[in-house]
Formats: sequence, C-alpha cells, structure tokens
Amino acid sequence: AMSPEKAPDDGGDTVGGVRISSPGRVMDEKSGITKLELARYHDAVSGWFMPYAANRPLALVRCPQGNAEQCFFQKHRMQGVGPHVGQARAGDQQVLHVDDVTGVLELVQFNVVEFHAWGASMRALERPDWLVIDLDPDTALGFARVVEAALEVRDALARLKLKSWVKTTGGKGLHVCVPLKPRAGWATVKAFAHALAQSLAQQDPDRYVATLSKAKRAGKIFIDYLRNGEGATAVLPYSPRSRPGMTVAMPVAWKDLKHVRPQEFTLQTVPGILAKRRSDPWKDFLASPQSLPA
Ligand code: ATP
Ligand code: MN
Ligand code: MN
Repeated sequence: AMSPEKAPDDGGDTVGGVRISSPGRVMDEKSGITKLELARYHDAVSGWFMPYAANRPLALVRCPQGNAEQCFFQKHRMQGVGPHVGQARAGDQQVLHVDDVTGVLELVQFNVVEFHAWGASMRALERPDWLVIDLDPDTALGFARVVEAALEVRDALARLKLKSWVKTTGGKGLHVCVPLKPRAGWATVKAFAHALAQSLAQQDPDRYVATLSKAKRAGKIFIDYLRNGEGATAVLPYSPRSRPGMTVAMPVAWKDLKHVRPQEFTLQTVPGILAKRRSDPWKDFLASPQSLPA
C-alpha cells in the first residue's frame, strides 16, 4: 500500500508552511480529532510548547493508522521527514531534535501524536537540566491520592530548598518537575531521585513504593524515579497523548491542583484554557535552574 505521506493530491492542507497530507485522518476515535486539527493545535500553542520542546533529544509516539493500538515509540529521525527535524550524535546513539515549530509540524505530518524528551538539552547532553518525579498510581487509586502524593513530593523537595512545578500527564498520574543547573551528571541526578523516592516509601510504605516491581504496587503509588536516567524520557508539557479524547500533559499551578481534572485537558480544550489563563503557572520554571543538595 502507498504510504499516507506520499499519497497524491489528497486534499492536503498547509499549516505554518508545512503541508499536511491526509488532513482528515482521524487520530482519535473518541473525539474524532483529525491530523489537521493536531497540526493546528501545535500552530496555536507553539509559544507555550516550544520552550520545552526545542533543542532536546525527543522520543515520539507515532500513530500512522490514527490513534489506535498501532501507535509506536520512536527515537530516531524517520526517512523523508522535513529538514527542520534534526539528528545528532549523543555518545554512541543518534538522537532527534527540533529547533522550531516547523520541525514539530513536520513531525505531525509523519503522524506524531506524543512528544517525549530527555531532561537535557542538546547543548549539554550529559548534564540534565530538569528532573522528573513521575507518580504512577495503581489503577485502583483515585486521582485525589495522586494529588496528595504530588504535594508530599513538593514538600520533601522544599525541605531540601528545591522549588518544583507540577503537570498532568494526560494519563493517570502527575509529574513533579525540578529545573536544574546543567552541572551534575545523569548518575548523580538519578541517584538523588531514587533517594527521594526511597525516603518517601520508607516513611509511608502503605502508600508509596519506590521499586519497579509491579507485584508490590497494589493499592500504592509508584514513585517512578527512573525518568532521570541517561536516555530516559518523560512526556513534554503541552504534548497531546494518544489516549481516548486526546488528553494533553498540562502544567498547572500548585494551588489549583486539588481542583484539576486531568481528563478535561484535551487537544480541543487546551488552546482556549491557555488563552484565558491570567498567568503561566510554569512562568519561572525555565528561569529557575537549581543545584541539587550535596
Ligand atoms: P501516566 O500518568 O499515565 O503514568 P506517563 O506519561 O507518566 O503517564 P508512564 O508509563 O509513567 O506514563 O511513562 C513515563 C514516561 O516513560 C513516558 O512519558 C515516556 O516518556 C516513557 N515511556 C513510556 N513508555 C515507553 C516506551 N514504550 N518506550 C520508551 N519510553 C517510554
Ligand atoms: Mn507516569
Ligand atoms: Mn512511570
């Protein structure tokens, strides 16, 4: 079969100067969101998204058949993708990055739905510039329990003089994020995240677990510190997810977290919500790089 990208005149549309073929392809069955709407979303929110997405190694979730079980994770530049999608060496691996919204749209043209990234920039691939504590609740737990966990992680970080920010993932959990001065290496940052996770799990073993083992997670929240190893990724702020309704990973203010319903942040609602926000809850995130305690 002909690949969708190479289809002849299929009513393709242009967004931000990038041609989007098969613009009517449904990328999410639940909402009916199309590939063209996905491209327009990125065109609309690029001022919010690009500060996080630009110039760092990416991992992508591509859904060439639309938003179904055929989606797959990809870390390398695909053949034929536009010139604003860059490739570079990171140690012994190849990484892919974009520097501008054109690159993002070129990836959407290749049916990219989710954007994940390393916690390090292309300028310093060995030195993370943010840390992510990924809170993964057992499926039986309600979101209120995850909120409680995020607030405890925030307080534990604050006791170490570290300021943190929170975002929804578009899924079941939350990510508590700490911007870092790109000084320490991956091993140090991961060891810090691991120690934090272990200390919370030791204090409250009925609620938290810091080991990967699925068997030990029943009824608990896994404090997933493993997002902080070399080559590990986390979903980027404002990235859509290939989940029903096309939810979005959304930065929120700590003070609003208790009232947040993550499923309400979708590709269709987020541009309007952003337009109405009086301030950016992550305004100071990138301007507040911190050092880990010794
Ligand atoms: P949720 O809130 O539902 O947990 P999440 O984005 O945190 O959403 P996780 O399963 O906890 O999902 O995954 C955390 C991160 O690990 C993802 O954001 C992604 O960057 C990375 N990841 C997940 N699945 C894969 C995969 N198959 N290959 C590579 N990295 C992955
Ligand atoms: Mn998670
Ligand atoms: Mn996880």
